[in-house]
Amino acid sequence: MANEKLVYMDHSATTATDPEVIQAMLPWFSEHYGNPSSLYRLARESRTAIEDARKKVAVAIGATPEEIFFTSGGTESDNWALIGTAFSHKKKGTHIITTAIEHHAILHTCEYLKKQGFSVTYLPPDESGKIQIEDIRAAITEKTILISVMFANNEIGTIQPIHEIGHICRERGIIFHTDAVQAIGNVPINVTNMDIDLLSLSGHKFYGPKGTGALYIRKGVRIDSYLHGGAQEKRKRAGTENVPGIVGLGVAIEKAVHDQEVKTKRIRDLRDRLLERIFTEIPNCRLNGHKTDRLPGNINICFEFIEGESLILLLDHAGIAASTGSACSSGSLEPSHVLMAIGVPIEIAHGSLRLTLGHENTEEHVEYVCKELKKAVEKLRAMSPLYADYMKKRQ
Ligand SMILES: *Cc1c(COP(=O)(O)O)cnc(C)c1O
Repeated sequence: MANEKLVYMDHSATTATDPEVIQAMLPWFSEHYGNPSSLYRLARESRTAIEDARKKVAVAIGATPEEIFFTSGGTESDNWALIGTAFSHKKKGTHIITTAIEHHAILHTCEYLKKQGFSVTYLPPDESGKIQIEDIRAAITEKTILISVMFANNEIGTIQPIHEIGHICRERGIIFHTDAVQAIGNVPINVTNMDIDLLSLSGHKFYGPKGTGALYIRKGVRIDSYLHGGAQEKRKRAGTENVPGIVGLGVAIEKAVHDQEVKTKRIRDLRDRLLERIFTEIPNCRLNGHKTDRLPGNINICFEFIEGESLILLLDHAGIAASTGSACSSGSLEPSHVLMAIGVPIEIAHGSLRLTLGHENTEEHVEYVCKELKKAVEKLRAMSPLYADYMKKRQ
């Protein structure tokens, strides 16, 4: 494995757009440029392409096409789901339940809604990152209008008991939203069987184009329009449609759910091999997240006595793309809110590393990452006075 080649293990941040997806998109930039709202043939072709993509998204999650609304991505879908539901149901109640480990697209939207007079309960997870069903039941009040729980966590990979949560919400007449951005293509999803009312998804997390996404809105669920203007997306989300993006999203989601089990098993096996190698070869590290109920490609580990950021830089130098939950560069010394919520001590949380594997990763990559990671951890620990102290005490 030569250094000039990139080993990409940050698939939870984004994925490379699949070449087949790009090919499918290209004609919709050039010869088929019609505005889907116009009346001539060129326009009708664009309209048909959008409706084809809508069917593909619907099939992938067990919905009907009328329930799929295209957006600009996961962030917009999350904002729309929360704000649209809150404002359309505020006469009934103003209480929202979510979790402490959601993506910022949910957490910061909840902060905005609090300023608008809504109240929000943030449920803490257990140490594996799971939300307890009993905590959800206990948090519900007469004023609760919406419960939003992510399908799978983007940092530690923990998968939530979505079906059970959906069941409670349906029973109590509360709208249930799930941010499924990380779950699509990794976990089988059926919005009907799982009693999901609203679901967010994002194209670039499953080898589709960036800036594309969708919100599933179950038929009969009331939610305010999000963008006001033209009649697009049944007057709920105005603006000329991103036709190439929508076509790409359709092809990408069709591919993502096709042979999902076979493809995720390969990634899970690679992930497990890498995990095993790391734990046998590198001392003083711990796995964050649930042992089994986790995304197939997700590894999140804390290495004691080192800084996650320094580790990322050394790995980058070796041509490896990974991420950390301790982002001093973002201007805050606060480590990840997810690691804090699952009770990782702050000094250990600073040494966190997230590796997320995807389709293009190979056994060769696993070998290479393990070797380089071991070297990097040893190098950083050799410079750490805390580690020197620790080794002295052990003798
Ligand atoms: C990436 C991500 C988002 C945001 O999606 P964008 O399409 O990048 O806006 C939201 N939620 C989760 C869980 C994510 O991983």
